[in-house]
This record gives sequence, structure tokens and C-alpha cells, in this order.
Amino acid sequence: MRKACAISAAALRLAGQSIEAGMTTADLDKIMFDYIKRQGAKPNFKGLYGFPGTACISINNEVIHGIPSHKRQIRPGDIVSIDTGAAIEGFNGDNACTFACGKVDSEAQRLLDVTKASLHRGIAAAVAGNRVGDIGHAVQSYVEENGFSVVRTFVGHGVGKELHEDPEVPNFGTPGRGARLVSGMTIAIEPMVNQKHHSVKTLSDGWTVVTADGGLAAHFEHTIAILPAGPEILTIGWEEP
Ligand code: MG
Repeated sequence: MRKACAISAAALRLAGQSIEAGMTTADLDKIMFDYIKRQGAKPNFKGLYGFPGTACISINNEVIHGIPSHKRQIRPGDIVSIDTGAAIEGFNGDNACTFACGKVDSEAQRLLDVTKASLHRGIAAAVAGNRVGDIGHAVQSYVEENGFSVVRTFVGHGVGKELHEDPEVPNFGTPGRGARLVSGMTIAIEPMVNQKHHSVKTLSDGWTVVTADGGLAAHFEHTIAILPAGPEILTIGWEEP
């Protein structure tokens, strides 16, 4: 898990460092694909449920699952959500970050800051003996205090031999409810936060999820291990590019 997550985080960090206005989302996807292959790992998003990319790349009002495309150019001031992972030696990593292309407006920057901080609130609640609802509550309450909303339709998940395993890890919930967290579990916590209303819709490409009201969205994700000493972030490394 450590190895798969380190490669996943390095691929995400490299993508963040590579973002430039004028490049396409397919260009960014190729950078991650090449990097993961050079490590001897497998891009574990590619082909999963038929997804064609190494990463989901979702811009501005797109929440998740954007398909990398040669036709989609990144523009100055865009916020670019990149979700990617790698598998090696039978285990999977999964992580996401919303990067800014150049300077973004102050509300967009606040959305990024709040979403990232909400991820860390969620991680802090991922303690053995707690329940999944404690994570969701920690994320949701922080996001809503800051005037944003959490997406309900898509959730975090267990991760290990498969990219998506039980339990589901919603970004909303009630303290003390849901699956119990046990030492040794590895899970992906991934708040998807909308600027306005939490409702989303899927575009006719069958993949891209956008905010229903056209507001901005951000997405941050770590794979973590729940250990006796507390939660440990396994996908460490993309946050300080
Ligand atoms: Mg995930």
C-alpha cells in the first residue's frame, strides 16, 4: 500500500507541477501515464468500469470523472481537479487534488482551501473505534460552516487489493453511525465540495459529473491507513508542489 500510494502521490504532484494554460487534459493525462509506467506500476483508473484515462480531470463546474481529451484546453484561472492512482505488487493507491491554473479568483481559492482543510478534518476523525459517520460529519460540518456544500451522490471508499472496496466513506453523516473503523483498514477519504448547491448531474458522455447549478466544485483525496497510533496518510507528497 505504501509503495502504490507513493507512486500515486508522485504522479499527482507531477501533474500539478505540469499544469500550464494552453495544454490539454490529454497532455496532462499522458504525463501521469508515462510516469506511472516508468515506475513499473499500473495506472489503475485506466479501463476500470471502462474509463479511458489514467486520471479523471475535471475543470471548474465539473466535479469528478472528467475524461481527458485532446480537445479540452486548460485556461488561465481554471481550477483543475485531478484524480489518479497506481497499482503495484497487487495493491492500489488513490488520490486527488484541485489545482489552480495561475491566479484564480478569491472565491475559487477559498473553495480549494476549505475543501483541502475538510479532507484533513475527515482524516483526523479516522481513528480506530470511531465510525464512518464520524469522518463524514467532520467533513460536512466544516464545509457547511464555510458556506459550501458536500456532494452526496459520490463517496469515498475502502482501498486495497481493489481500487474500490467496502466500506463506503460518505462526506456527510452522523457521528457514531455507520461502519466501525478498525486498525489496519486502508480507506480513501475524498470530499467533493460544491460552491453552491450539492446536487450534481452526469453529462451525456456518461462520465463527467458537473454541478447542477453551474457553480464551481473542488475535490481532494488521500488514501490513509488507520493504525493504532492514529491515521497515517499514505498518499503523502502532492500537497507541497
Ligand atoms: Mg477514490
